[in-house]
Amino acid sequence: MDRVYNFSAGPAQLPLAVLEKAQKEFLSYEQSGMSVMEMSHRSKIFDAILQQTEQLLRDLMEIPDHYKVLFIQGGASLQFSMIPLNLLANGGHAYYVNTGSWSKKALIEAEKVGESRVLASSEDKNFTYIPEIDFSVLDDNTKYVHITTNNTIEGTRFTHIPDTGDVPLVADMSSNILSEQIDVSKFGIIYAGAQKNLGIAGLTIVIIRDDLIGHAPSNLPTMLKYDTYAKNRSLYNTPPTFAIYMTKLVLEWLKEQGGIKQIEKLNIEKASLLYNYIDESNMFFSNVRSEDRSLMNIPFLTKSDELNELFVKEAQKEGLVTLKGHRSVGGMRASIYNSMPIEGVKALVQFMKEFESKNG
Ligand code: PMP
Repeated sequence: MDRVYNFSAGPAQLPLAVLEKAQKEFLSYEQSGMSVMEMSHRSKIFDAILQQTEQLLRDLMEIPDHYKVLFIQGGASLQFSMIPLNLLANGGHAYYVNTGSWSKKALIEAEKVGESRVLASSEDKNFTYIPEIDFSVLDDNTKYVHITTNNTIEGTRFTHIPDTGDVPLVADMSSNILSEQIDVSKFGIIYAGAQKNLGIAGLTIVIIRDDLIGHAPSNLPTMLKYDTYAKNRSLYNTPPTFAIYMTKLVLEWLKEQGGIKQIEKLNIEKASLLYNYIDESNMFFSNVRSEDRSLMNIPFLTKSDELNELFVKEAQKEGLVTLKGHRSVGGMRASIYNSMPIEGVKALVQFMKEFESKNG
């Protein structure tokens, strides 16, 4: 069995050790005689999985006690709606920092619920940088400020957490959660789909400060209220049990790697390998402002579409797959989440060098 280096933006490659552990426990989890997929979500044994998953996340991210960890379905995309429905439906306004396609989608959903304004935008230059933010416009009626900490498609990231003062900062961390150390207490809400750094599709993690729960209009459907998940430990209905279990395995793996501090060092090293080569290459280039470059998603191009296409095709033959860039950006994109070993990045850089000398 030959495994490839999969540079997909998500669902993304998982650590091999995680897949092997899941395989080992697939038919019978801890002598239960059944797969996690077959367990009641109300059983003691699943409850332990849920508790352990939450505790691991709390330990790894140092989540303060006055935050809840919620396990929700519907992807990060449902959070685009749930956030305004819970925080904005009763009036006031929200501000969005528009740094890419996902930020924009979040904004579009908020506009359907309440008054939503753009606080800053980098759309003027195709989202190739993180814009300056003027916080002086925030006032008592500002319900929250929304940012996308890492822009999966465009390859930018916030290197500093904006200081929104008393206004809650809401962050879509789908593509960089657990990849670098962050201070959770600076945020009102952090949310992320699991299929990149947390596990598999089907689960969305929401980390929410206690005081932001319970403000939804009373007629908001039960399943859309944060309150429902918080009061019932995410067990109001059947949660995505197997996806939660996979997240437990990913978090255990991350802990074994030395936690976020260690993985951040490795992520910087991995990204630097690739950026350094892109910068010195005469064939490959990046459009992203260098100080705003993502550690997780690295778009790069050559000058011709034909060459880009050839690169993706030839790379695939070498077991370096899913390198085609997002259609809105073109070129290539290497997503190198926590689970991408440094050997994968080295193999990619080596291949780029060979491709350049052959086709340059
Ligand atoms: N936000 C960001 C930053 C993303 O990268 C993605 C998915 N690629 C989404 C939101 C949408 O996530 P989902 O598919 O889980 O709804």
